[in-house]
Amino acid sequence: MSLKNLIEFNNYFTNNSNSNSNLFNTSELKININIQNFIGGEFVNSQSGLNIENINPATGRVYSTQPRSNLNDIKIAVEKAKQAFKSWSQTTNEERSIILNKIADGIEKNLSLLAKAESFDQGKPVWLAESVDIPRAAQNFRFFAGQILYAQSEAFEQSGKSFNFSIRKPIGVAGLISPWNLPLYLLTWKIAPAIACGNTVICKPSEVTPMTAYLLCHILKEAGLPSGVVNMVFGFGVEAGEALVAHPEVPLISFTGGTKTGQQLSMTAAPLIKKLSLELGGKNANFIFADANLEEAISTSVRSSFLNQGEICLCGSRIFVEQSIYPQFLSRFVDEVKKIKVGDPENKDNFLGALVSKSHMLKVKSYIEIAIKEGGVIETGNEKLELSEEFSKGYFMRPTVISNLTPESCLLNEEIFGPVVTVMPFEKEDDVVTLNNKVDYGLSATLWTKDIQRIHRLARQLEVGTLWVNTWMLRDLRVPFGGMKMSGVGREGGLHSLDFFSEITNVCVKY
Ligand code: NDP
Repeated sequence: MSLKNLIEFNNYFTNNSNSNSNLFNTSELKININIQNFIGGEFVNSQSGLNIENINPATGRVYSTQPRSNLNDIKIAVEKAKQAFKSWSQTTNEERSIILNKIADGIEKNLSLLAKAESFDQGKPVWLAESVDIPRAAQNFRFFAGQILYAQSEAFEQSGKSFNFSIRKPIGVAGLISPWNLPLYLLTWKIAPAIACGNTVICKPSEVTPMTAYLLCHILKEAGLPSGVVNMVFGFGVEAGEALVAHPEVPLISFTGGTKTGQQLSMTAAPLIKKLSLELGGKNANFIFADANLEEAISTSVRSSFLNQGEICLCGSRIFVEQSIYPQFLSRFVDEVKKIKVGDPENKDNFLGALVSKSHMLKVKSYIEIAIKEGGVIETGNEKLELSEEFSKGYFMRPTVISNLTPESCLLNEEIFGPVVTVMPFEKEDDVVTLNNKVDYGLSATLWTKDIQRIHRLARQLEVGTLWVNTWMLRDLRVPFGGMKMSGVGREGGLHSLDFFSEITNVCVKY
């Protein structure tokens, strides 16, 4: 495969497939596949001239490069974003809404290319990127294009004294830092509300998965987004990311990533009194009561354990089953997991692709070693995969189910973020509260039960930002999303996102 420019890149992806990609098919586009920063509407190299290699996790081979940016690139991006803010912040909600919808159109038109690029960069199956990641990226822009037009603001009458109303105002240059597991999906979940509110942004996507962020820049340009409204600066977190968080003229930071990184980032941002949204790690529990619809609980638990190679912050990596149905659940669940196919991300039959990187795969595997030392039983998984030559150096793992561990095991307390799930029994409802709340995290939990009173009781006691009942990953973009405890600070979604990306002024008018 030649990687000289995007057209060849596109040809490679669309070879033998029915792509509906239009943006990158035009022969006049001659863009280097070597990813560039997007600053002030221009594609530019890093100031240092240094690059980072980008690896395809399915093959283990380098397939592109990205700029290794640092403080110097961030400084230029901040200047461009400040400049753009002067006019973008003065546009009407209607004007911004039109452009956001055009961006959504651009993503949808290029769905096939973006899905293949996401898979190539991240390792996930193409079918998953096509059905979840990329449609959701488009939906993020479409949703906030509507939200900004129809969002209500508050008004209070103080009887006989005053009338109060609040107005949302754009803040300035926002720093947006995103992780590698759902690269375009999570990045656009930040860009869309930020620019819908009239801010300008500087994004620092994960250095592990930069490709779709880069392709998005072409779509933004094509959609007519004014130069400097969105700037993309690629590079390492400790260089470009830290410089962005520390920059005094970036008053708000929206971060999604690991808890340790969130802690580090807070230490930089707090003394500067920056507005900070932190969406961090999780160690989510999945509770199956004896009265549950077992068929649905099993099939959804397979998804919630292993979708996207288990690399979703919301994955239910701790399964607890009521004692009376534990043997039955375990054997049927394990049978289903054994049927899962792993391999070539382009093959629709494969439910799992590759893990994102070699270092991450080794970290995930190290937890299985710990489990074995602790006396855990490997019900399935952990065996060697037979893959074709092309994928022999890829970072693939079989989904692994482990039983016979105690709640004290680090496998039940630390985020593994891979295709590894633990299963253990519980006896009574009170145990559910104890087991759920004993971990440091508080992102989400799932309950499988038909008892409505139990749902109400547990909803008030479980320390989680999202509680799913008889479902998983069902998302309405208007609802508050975020974590408790070490899973984060703040909520995103609907009005919560608009509140974060705006400064609110209350106007008090005396009668
Ligand atoms: P990291 O915390 O390692 O990285 C997230 C982003 O932060 C990357 O862009 C990274 O850059 C950057 N970064 C790293 N160090 C710094 C720093 N010192 N200052 C500024 N930026 C920095 O997370 P991962 O990418 O490994 O993502 C996985 C984690 O994300 C998991 O813990 C998962 O639970 C969490 N997550 C949470 C979600 C939620 O909604 N709560 C959703 C999805 C994921 P670089 O890649 O170069 O290190």
